[in-house]
Amino acid sequence: MKPQVIVVGSFVQDLAWSCERFPAPGETVIGRFVTGPGGKGSNQAVAAGRAGVPTCFIGAVGSDVFAEGAKKFHRAEGIAARFVARPPHATGTAAIVVNRSGQNQIVVALGASAHLRPRDVPAALFQGAKVAVCQHEANLAINAHVFGLARRAGVTTVLNPAPMRPDFDRAILDLTDVLIPNETEFVAITRLLPATAALVREKPYINFGDFTEATLPALASDDLHRLCRALGVPTVIVTLGPRGCFVSQAGGGTFLPAHTVEAVDTTGAGDAFVGGFAAGLVRSRGDVVAAARYGNAVAALSVTKPGTAPAMPRKAEIARFLKGR
Ligand code: ADP
Repeated sequence: MKPQVIVVGSFVQDLAWSCERFPAPGETVIGRFVTGPGGKGSNQAVAAGRAGVPTCFIGAVGSDVFAEGAKKFHRAEGIAARFVARPPHATGTAAIVVNRSGQNQIVVALGASAHLRPRDVPAALFQGAKVAVCQHEANLAINAHVFGLARRAGVTTVLNPAPMRPDFDRAILDLTDVLIPNETEFVAITRLLPATAALVREKPYINFGDFTEATLPALASDDLHRLCRALGVPTVIVTLGPRGCFVSQAGGGTFLPAHTVEAVDTTGAGDAFVGGFAAGLVRSRGDVVAAARYGNAVAALSVTKPGTAPAMPRKAEIARFLKGR
């Protein structure tokens, strides 16, 4: 089946150790080990695919054992993945150390993901697709290429600017239909762009001291909406963790509260939201608010299970969950 959602981004093998306490420099401690598929692009593709929408993932890997695992995983998920081999670069990896209190220390090596090239993403892929999704975990130049092709094919472009990077080029926003930052990324972008940076130095934004993540919960809907509008993107959706999300479109802004669930692991909640939103956009035939509600449900279900990609809920589970609310 022709893919409706196209996700271009990173695959990262998560390598996680849990131990009593972090080792001091030069020290060795004994821990337990688990490994699993991760990377923002791959996680988001899995979320969209499990929600029942034909999805394609494009990412770069090395020629190593993690690349083999990535291909096997996406095959099992039914995702039409295109893994481009980019040796001598290694497949992306994340070394995650978690201590007894649940704090973590993480080192990510993007490896091959940072070397995805425009020619790895062919224009033909976008014919008949509905939504194209990019993040900031591959090289940023690829995002402009992907969104250019998507726009030409009439495909909706969704940018999740995660993680926010110093080499961010605001030109990508001219090619973005839907921008989905979390609170940290939203604050970073608003402080970076001249129009919004000027705004957040004024009232009411400065009423709360410096404009930081801590300011957001104190802002009235109209003020948050005004800031979103100043970014110049048709739709801005700020994800607000357990508070849900804020959807800002030309017609107005609205808070969509999160679902109350028992959260066991919120890692990858943002990826679940973005993948769920993309699937929701296809399912609702372009209704942004309906898609954000769907994203909220997918993300809520994902935080009730450990892990990132393996925690993404499937279509039937999402339908049951939404029916019960
Ligand atoms: P990120 O993981 O990128 O930091 P957020 O923390 O903003 O993203 O979470 C993304 C979405 O996940 C939220 O908009 C919300 O829908 C959902 N979510 C996050 N934490 C919870 C929670 N504790 N309970 C229910 N939903 C949650």
